[in-house]
Amino acid sequence: MRLHALLALGLAAAPATGAAGVPRVLADLPAVHSLVARVMAGVGTPGLLLDAGADPHDFQLRPSTARALAAADLVFWVGPDLTPGLAHALAGGGAGGARRAVALATVAGVTGRPPAALGEGTDPHLWLDPANARRWTLAIAATLARADGANATRYGSNAAAAAGEIDALAAELTRTLAPAGATPIVVLHDAYGHFAAAFGLTVAAAIMAADGAAPGARHLARTRARVAALGPVCVFPEVGQDRRLARAVIEGTAARLGPPLDPEGAALAPGPELYPRLMRGLAEAIAACAGGG
Ligand SMILES: [Zn+2]
Repeated sequence: MRLHALLALGLAAAPATGAAGVPRVLADLPAVHSLVARVMAGVGTPGLLLDAGADPHDFQLRPSTARALAAADLVFWVGPDLTPGLAHALAGGGAGGARRAVALATVAGVTGRPPAALGEGTDPHLWLDPANARRWTLAIAATLARADGANATRYGSNAAAAAGEIDALAAELTRTLAPAGATPIVVLHDAYGHFAAAFGLTVAAAIMAADGAAPGARHLARTRARVAALGPVCVFPEVGQDRRLARAVIEGTAARLGPPLDPEGAALAPGPELYPRLMRGLAEAIAACAGGG
């Protein structure tokens, strides 16, 4: 059923084609797909590699995805820190010699940051800083313009409009989150370094690491002690993830359960509107709990 719905929307993994000469384009996850779809509006529709609701950290290459990759002219993806499974597939080559993959983590000016709570390694959830999404939009348009000169003007004007929309979105979310800024928050997985840096939030603890790996008993005990010491903070579960971990961390403390966050857009309908919905959803959920609402 889900596959049929995706096919009807033209969003299944096979890269959709527009008019003759328009490149077949794939994006790795919903947020990237949303930005690419915005840039391609009026020209073509990108395909989405990740299954609806799937966890990018556990990206698995299925035969149909492998065929879609081999048939694609262009692939936009975040990079190996987010989807090691896709990195492996792209490095493996196989069919599709004409394929070109653009790792958006390497776009000039994109800021790398460590995870906000645990601090070790890198936080691959780069799209949660609107400044990165803005840079990506312009880089996506430049790449598409090189691959498809006939539509270069359209890609450029779409990207310029999208950059303005992202600026307006960032200003709106800054206002939404202003009352929450001083209150530490606790999150399920350590995915909010870029969001916190962009909007002045403090992530005091994360139940799981940035790659979503299951926590060990020692880390859970440490997180619980930290939450108990923080007082009446909000602990945010995530869409599609078991709430028992968040509940276990809260038990016997003054913390409360916030609304579930969806940093990867797992529950949102793919398309150009997904990115602003994803960002607005995070801001409103955090403001509703941590802002004293
Ligand atoms: Zn994640």
